[in-house]
Amino acid sequence: MIKKSVLALLIMVVMLSLWGQRPALAVQGQADSSPRRFDPSSTNLQAQASLAERPDAFTAPDMPSVGKLSVAGPSIKPGYYQTSEYMAGSVAVGIVLVQSNGKVDPSTEDWTLDQKRLVFDKVTTALNWWAALEPRAHLSFVVDDHFSAPLPTDVEPITRPYTDEKYWVADAMGALGYTAISYFARVRDYNNALRDNYHTDWAFTIFVVNDAHDGDHSFSNDYFAYAYVGGPFMVMTYNNANYGPENMDAVAAHEIGHIFYALDQYAAAGQSCVSRSGYLAVENQNSQSGACAMNVESIMRGQVSPYLRHALDPYAAGQIGWHVSNGDNILDPLHTDLPITITDFVQSGNSVVVSGTAEIVPYPSPSRASVTINTLTGVQVRLDQGEWQLALPDDEAFDGVTETYHLATNVITPGLHTLQVTALDSAGNISMQFASRTVAILDPVDGGLITTFDSSARQARVGQRLDVTGVAYQLESGAVTNVQYRVNGGEWHSAAPQDGKFDSRQEAFTVELDPLDNSSYLIEARATDSTGKTETTLASLNVTVKPTYTVFLPTIAR
Ligand SMILES: [Zn+2]
Repeated sequence: MIKKSVLALLIMVVMLSLWGQRPALAVQGQADSSPRRFDPSSTNLQAQASLAERPDAFTAPDMPSVGKLSVAGPSIKPGYYQTSEYMAGSVAVGIVLVQSNGKVDPSTEDWTLDQKRLVFDKVTTALNWWAALEPRAHLSFVVDDHFSAPLPTDVEPITRPYTDEKYWVADAMGALGYTAISYFARVRDYNNALRDNYHTDWAFTIFVVNDAHDGDHSFSNDYFAYAYVGGPFMVMTYNNANYGPENMDAVAAHEIGHIFYALDQYAAAGQSCVSRSGYLAVENQNSQSGACAMNVESIMRGQVSPYLRHALDPYAAGQIGWHVSNGDNILDPLHTDLPITITDFVQSGNSVVVSGTAEIVPYPSPSRASVTINTLTGVQVRLDQGEWQLALPDDEAFDGVTETYHLATNVITPGLHTLQVTALDSAGNISMQFASRTVAILDPVDGGLITTFDSSARQARVGQRLDVTGVAYQLESGAVTNVQYRVNGGEWHSAAPQDGKFDSRQEAFTVELDPLDNSSYLIEARATDSTGKTETTLASLNVTVKPTYTVFLPTIAR
């Protein structure tokens, strides 16, 4: 069973619930103490009906080709048919029980309160199962309740072949006001409404058909649980043939895998090792159909045992998007680039106003339309590798896939500075390339003639020569023709130009310091330009000197 501490990982909001004030937790607690808990050591396992008897994963007939997915124009936000592209982020789940009304078929099944309660309990347990498996997916679920008040249909679903879903799915969705001609379109309309209303990334629907009085607890053509790969819905019966209601969570977990593009792996499904699926187009190399690269227990092989053991093979994981190819612990489908530009840069004295745009580029899918569920969450600006400052969004908030930003700041220290800008998104990505500008700040006394050290404090050791480096600029007109330095207010000496000659607007220089004792040293420097002007504001650097300790190193043979 899933431990309570694991359950805490999941943020579950249950709308319109039958079960009172805190429905999700209350029902979950009952599940843990259920006397009908499945015993994996039971010999009944041998008698379990198998999902493996026939393929249970289909392709929705209305699913457009990948090239036609962006029906509303190119968009990097998941579109109408893209309601479960990868298993990460927030998911709205419609739990729909259907109830025959006797109009066409005699009504033989009636949902009881205990049955409704168990369906909700088992489905949420299955959702928790997935959420606990991969914390980096940041899965959360919102359940839309059509289990406490089942939706009516004119037929008795369990007495018919599963293909007659065209009647009872249409009836149930029609009862909610979804009246498209195609019953698949009705479910897609419902899913898209769930996604909009609950502000989730994805949505899918679970239909559950009552079979309490049905001899084989299956549809008339022997099917009992199946799903459309990539959505929009999955179907279970209450008993799922011989699995029994107590194992509905195991069945649900398998079918939820299909919803997010995991393929079957049991032999009878006939999925070859090289079948590719999902946003990352991952092969099915743990399939039992053929000589595949891997042969391990997995939820996509059906049965109860993989569920109890939390078994998911890396190929099925890859198919649902759970693969990390960078070292950043961000799942690949959530790994985005965030190109950022500086479109306006206005400097007036010490004040700088920078503005520009940031956008999200989704992780490119090798096989599907590339979409992101990430949103921009901020833009940061820093000067010379210092502390990041937050820029402001031009609209109310950073929350879209493109944003414009601005930041006003003051740059006090004279000299040449590098200003860098980067964007952040909701998955923890940062722009691969920062936008940058050089900021030139004139000295109030010396104008453009400015000398800087590469750091403001250094450490040295007695008897060890220290090379102190810096840069002198003439940011206005002319060139730097000399740099001098002095130590502790002593005589001025010439620094060494790093390129051999002081003759440019920007000159890097080196000062050699030979610390004689462990006091501290103040090094000051100044530049002279081609007009003969010498800087009056001195660059200064404090060097502290530590005594030299003798360190015994192990002898290394060479
Ligand atoms: Zn399956």
